[in-house]
Amino acid sequence: MQVSETLILAKANSTLNMDVIYGIIGDPIEHSLSPAMHNAAYESLGLSDHCYLAFHVKPEDLQEALARAKALGIRGLNVTIPHKEAVTRLVDLDANARRIGAVNTVDIMNMKGYNTDGSGAVCALEEAGVSVRGKSVLVMGAGGAARAIAFALNDRGADLHIVNRTPERARLLAEGVADDVGWNSINKLEQYAGNSDIIINTTPVGMHPHVDESLITSNMMHEGQIVFDIVYNPVETRLLKEAKKAGAITIDGVKMLVYQGVKAFTVFTGIDPPADVMEGAVRARLGGEQL
Ligand code: NAP
Repeated sequence: MQVSETLILAKANSTLNMDVIYGIIGDPIEHSLSPAMHNAAYESLGLSDHCYLAFHVKPEDLQEALARAKALGIRGLNVTIPHKEAVTRLVDLDANARRIGAVNTVDIMNMKGYNTDGSGAVCALEEAGVSVRGKSVLVMGAGGAARAIAFALNDRGADLHIVNRTPERARLLAEGVADDVGWNSINKLEQYAGNSDIIINTTPVGMHPHVDESLITSNMMHEGQIVFDIVYNPVETRLLKEAKKAGAITIDGVKMLVYQGVKAFTVFTGIDPPADVMEGAVRARLGGEQL
């Protein structure tokens, strides 16, 4: 079982005092940036007995991995692809994770699941000085991240429109969020892009290795618009390059990655971690290699 094995190996190889263990589970997991991000925060806060590890957990081992994590005294786990939905059936959920139908943070001691993706995205926008209240926001995609973001933006008074490759999923998400949320097929993108105050890409389009792809081009955007791509690999996606060409203000996916991590850190420890240190650790990793 990978959770036990990774922990035993890490303890055997470490000169650190690893008393307080957190981690992330996923399949694959080797490219996760979360260990670098959380461990940098522990170091900066002087939490020398804290350690954050990556655990490779296959879907068929998920339930046992959570039970072993609890038995081993692991305090908290982040959850990534492909386990975010399956974990909802194995732990108690807070109200936000329940409505989203996905978990990215589990307090293992209480076996309680949370979802910090949506608030991470909102923090990324707020840090760029963007308030979404009353703004027209076009969300491209209706998958797991889009669900978290759509609920969070609706809570903060955004005027949402969701477009998706599979229109039925856009409809289901829009109707699940609120009566006044619009939806359409991604084929109708052009008709909404230009009129939106904020455009958010939640699809993997443009992600490595398909770095030349973008759902929209500069002629569909305009000066002063906010364009936020949650893809962080590469940091500057083709969409963001096109947005800059149009004179739009851009926000990259590293910001959301960092703030969802900041929120998870607080769920785990009750401490507000240094976001700048976490961001530095992520950007150093992304600058140094193509994941
Ligand atoms: P997901 O649940 O699989 O959803 C993917 C969405 O993208 C679906 O709406 C899908 O449409 C759409 N899509 C996929 N390929 C497409 C294509 N070629 N053209 C148009 N639409 C396409 O994935 P997810 O977990 O939401 O993650 C999506 C992206 O966000 C990934 O790149 C992930 O790395 C990134 N992400 C970033 C953060 C962050 O912190 N920055 C957090 C979470 C996720 P259909 O419904 O038609 O399949």
